[in-house]
Amino acid sequence: MGLANAAIDAVWPTWWSAGADSSASARAELRFGIARRLGLDPNSLLDDHDEPRFLWREEARYKHLTAEDQIERAGIESFGHAVASAISGAITPAMGDLNGRAADDLRSVILANGSPFVGLGELLALCWGVGIPVVHLRVFPWPQKRMAAMTVRLAQRSFILLGKDASYPAPIAFYLAHEMGHIALAHIEADQALVDMDAGDPVATASGDDEELAADAYALELLTGRAQPVVLPADPATKSAGELARTAISAGAELNIEPGTLALCFGYSTGDWRTANASMKMIYDAPRPVWEAVNAIAVQQLPLSDAPSDAADFLKIVLGRTTGD
Ligand SMILES: [Zn+2]
Repeated sequence: MGLANAAIDAVWPTWWSAGADSSASARAELRFGIARRLGLDPNSLLDDHDEPRFLWREEARYKHLTAEDQIERAGIESFGHAVASAISGAITPAMGDLNGRAADDLRSVILANGSPFVGLGELLALCWGVGIPVVHLRVFPWPQKRMAAMTVRLAQRSFILLGKDASYPAPIAFYLAHEMGHIALAHIEADQALVDMDAGDPVATASGDDEELAADAYALELLTGRAQPVVLPADPATKSAGELARTAISAGAELNIEPGTLALCFGYSTGDWRTANASMKMIYDAPRPVWEAVNAIAVQQLPLSDAPSDAADFLKIVLGRTTGD
C-alpha cells in the first residue's frame, strides 16, 4: 500500500520474533494488532489474497479526489481513529465538549482567567480542560501528503490531532483554533473524522467550502476577537521585520492578541510572508519545535503508565516520546 516505514514500525508489536512466524496463532494476533493500530479491516489482513482495506472510508465526502487520494485520505482517517482509540483507552471519559460554544465566549473566559491573550498555551489548556485531547502526530501512514490537522470523534468525544510542523506557536495556534471551530460548530458527526490537509498540498482542494470558511472565522474570532484578520497600523512603506515585530508586540498588548498571531494576520492581509515570518524571530525568544511543547503537555495529561502496555508503547512512538518519560 506504500505505507511509511515509520508507521509500520509504530504498529509492529514488540513481542514479534522470527520464531513467532511459525505459529499460526501468533501470525493471526500480529494481523489483528496491526489492523487495529492502522485502522484496517482485520478481515482484509487475514486473507492473503485480499487487498488491505481501511475501515474509515468516506468516498461520498471527497468526490473530487482521485481513487488513490481517497485511499490516502481513508488511511489518514483510519490511523487517526486508531490513535484516538488508544488515547481514549488511556484516560477517563470527558466531562464536557465545545459543541455550541461561541468563539467570543471562549475568548472571554480565557482573558477573564488573567491571560494577556489567547495563544497556543491557552488553547491547549482549554481543550484538555474540557476533555478534548490534543496531540501532535510524529508518525503518518504515508511518507508524503501530510495533514495539517484533523479532528476525530469517537462517540460523543472529540480528539484533535495536529500534523503541521512549525518553529513558532502562532501558526499551530491557528490550526488548533480552526479544529476547535469544527467541533464547536458541530461539523463532525459522532464516529466521523474531518481531515484538514496541509494547504501546500494539492489534495487540499476542499478548502474554501462553507465549513472551512466558518472554521477559519471561528479561529480568528477566538484568537483576535474579530472574524476577519486584524490589519496592523504598520506603515506599509517600511515593512521591515523589526518594525512589524515591534508593532505586533505593542498592538498585541493593547488588543489582547498574541503578537505572532498579529504577524500572521499581516502576512495574510499583505501577502508579504517573508516579512511576517522574519518578524517571528524577533517576537519569540528562539525557534523551537512546537510539537515538542504540544506533546509534553499531552504526556502530562495522559497517564500512559496506567494504559495497556501495547497502547502506551504505540502512543509513545506516535507522540515522538520514545526515550525518557
Ligand atoms: Zn478545516
